[in-house]
Amino acid sequence: LFARGDPIGAIVLLAGERHGPFEPEDLPLAEDLARLVAAAVDTARLYRRAQEAVAARDEFLSIASHELKTPLTSLILHTDGLRAAARRGAAAQVASKADLIRRSADRLTRLVASLLDISRIGAGRLDLEREETDLADIAREVVDRFAEEAQRAGCEVRLDARPAIGLWDPLRLDQVVTNLLSNAIKYGAGAPIDVSVGVRGGRAIVSVRDRGIGIGEADQRRIFQRFERAVSERNYGGFGLGLWIVRQIVEAQGGVVRVESAPGEGSTFTVELDVAVRPPAADETRPPRPSP
Ligand code: ADP
Repeated sequence: LFARGDPIGAIVLLAGERHGPFEPEDLPLAEDLARLVAAAVDTARLYRRAQEAVAARDEFLSIASHELKTPLTSLILHTDGLRAAARRGAAAQVASKADLIRRSADRLTRLVASLLDISRIGAGRLDLEREETDLADIAREVVDRFAEEAQRAGCEVRLDARPAIGLWDPLRLDQVVTNLLSNAIKYGAGAPIDVSVGVRGGRAIVSVRDRGIGIGEADQRRIFQRFERAVSERNYGGFGLGLWIVRQIVEAQGGVVRVESAPGEGSTFTVELDVAVRPPAADETRPPRPSP
C-alpha cells in the first residue's frame, strides 16, 4: 500500500480451496484493491491529523488568551492606582505603581515574543547571527536581570561562571538562559538555584539547577515539545513554549539540551554546545622559519 509515494502497509490475499490458486489476471484487480485501500487509509490519517491540529489550536488559543489577560489585567489595575496616586501627589506610590506597570509590560513583551517565535521557527526562519560569544557573560547578564524576580520568589541565585567561548548567536543564547532561569524561579519553590557555565570535554556547558517541584520521568521528554506542560494551568501559568524554544535554538547551533529531575527534588537543565575551533590565522599556518 503506497500513499503519496511512501509505503504505508501491505495487504495479503489468501485463496480458499474452492477458489484455487490465483491467476495472473487476478493481479490487476488486487492492485486496484490495494490502491483503494491505501487511499482510504491515507485519507483517514489526514483527517485525524487535521482534527488533532484544530483541537491543539483551540486549546492553545484558550491558554494564550488567558496568559495574555493576566498581565493585561494587572496593567489596567496599576494604571488606575497610578492615576489615583498622581492625583494625591504621592510621589513614592507613583514610582512604585510605575514599576509594577513596567513589570506587567515586560511580561506581555516576553509572551508576545514567544508567540512570534512559534511562527518564525515553524516557518524555518530562525535566523542565527553568530559571533564570538562568551556564555559566561550571557549567564551573568541574565542572572543580574532576574535578581529582583528571584528575590520576590524568595530564592537565591548562585552563579559559577568560567569562560566558555564559541561562535554562537548571543541574543538567542540569552533567550535560552532566560527561559531556563525563569522556569527555575517559577517551579523552584523558593529554594536556592545554581547556574554554572564552563567547558567540559571540549564542549561548552551551561546548567541551571533548582530544588523545586521536579518533573516525573514520564514527562521529561514531553516538556521539550510545543505546548506540552507537566503542571496544571490553575497552579502555574505558561504557554508551554519556553523549553520548546530552548531546544530549537540549541539544536540549530548544533547543541543538545537535557534534563535530570525527580519529583519533589528539583531539576537540572543542561545545555551543551560545541566550542567553535577558530581557523588558524594565515601566518600561523606557515611552517616555522628555520632558526639561524
Ligand atoms: P511553561 O513554563 O510556560 O509551561 P515551558 O516549555 O518552559 O513552558 O515548560 C514546559 C513544562 O515543563 C512546564 O509546564 C513544567 O511542567 C515543566 N518544567 C519546566 N521547567 C521546570 C522546572 N525547572 N521544574 C519543574 N518543572 C519544569
